[in-house]
Amino acid sequence: MRRLQHHIAEARAAARNLSARLGPLQPADLRPARLVLRLDDADLPGSLGEGAPLAEAALQARIAEAVGWLGPLPVTVFSAGIDAEGPAIELLRFAHRLDNATTLVTAGLGLDERVALALMDAGLGRLCLRLDADSAAPGSPAQGALKALRFARNARQAPLDLECWLPWEGASAAAAPALLLWARAAGADGLRVVAPWRAEDLSPAPPPAAAPPFDRTDPGTRALLARMKDATPGPGADGRSALRRPFGPCPVGGQRLELTLNGRLCACPFQVPIPGDGALASRVATGASDHLQAISACDRVCAHPELVPAPLGPTRSPWPG
Ligand code: SF4
Repeated sequence: MRRLQHHIAEARAAARNLSARLGPLQPADLRPARLVLRLDDADLPGSLGEGAPLAEAALQARIAEAVGWLGPLPVTVFSAGIDAEGPAIELLRFAHRLDNATTLVTAGLGLDERVALALMDAGLGRLCLRLDADSAAPGSPAQGALKALRFARNARQAPLDLECWLPWEGASAAAAPALLLWARAAGADGLRVVAPWRAEDLSPAPPPAAAPPFDRTDPGTRALLARMKDATPGPGADGRSALRRPFGPCPVGGQRLELTLNGRLCACPFQVPIPGDGALASRVATGASDHLQAISACDRVCAHPELVPAPLGPTRSPWPG
């Protein structure tokens, strides 16, 4: 039964993603397809906000409220570092218990076997490990994390999807051949090249093409990377008439709602945030106009997997069997 509920939630999220492409959104109509909880800088653009850090219970309350508002929906936690006592694991467990598919995006800092086992027990469905130029070096956080996750996944017979993210910028792009080989040998299920947030950070070389299914870089990202080479500085690439949104404004407003540890709420991290505090639905209904208008007026095209509706990897139910 819970497996069926999970598939229904995924279908609803896919339908919301589709409807997000169809035109400008009024705040009252906004139905985000995904909730993102950002617990630290995690290499995302934009600040964490000015407010006092939210307690774990307050973040759980926001998850419960989102489920009451939108029904079960994918929940992504962004946390560069993770420890057994920190809020990330409890938030993932809480989201999982409410039948939300869960994803953790992390750099793997502090992710040892104890933490990895706790993540399996929390029902984590997908983990995206963000690599850097040194990830293939012995003793790197990514190497320790991947080893611990493989151990925990086997120990718990858990259906965790383990994907590596390779930012296509600077030293990490230069180290791509070694990182690709290492990630495959180290037991990741796939590797995805991710666009840099801003065009000026792009590495000029074309990204490598490994054999599928290990290579998960989608065609939209490859097309964006080619366009970012000639783009003016800023998020994504110039222009709004190609790639993923031939019709209407950027769909990011319908695809994600991001809440930071300090209460900053937004769909696009590059735009002015949604003001206020407290319940998500009322903040959106009363304060999202400026945010949605800024998205509607944006003349860029972003295709970072965090901002676009492409699935982060093969859909795998966290429910075995
Ligand atoms: S294209 Fe979309 S995601 Fe990118 S900056 Fe503009 S509104 Fe934000």
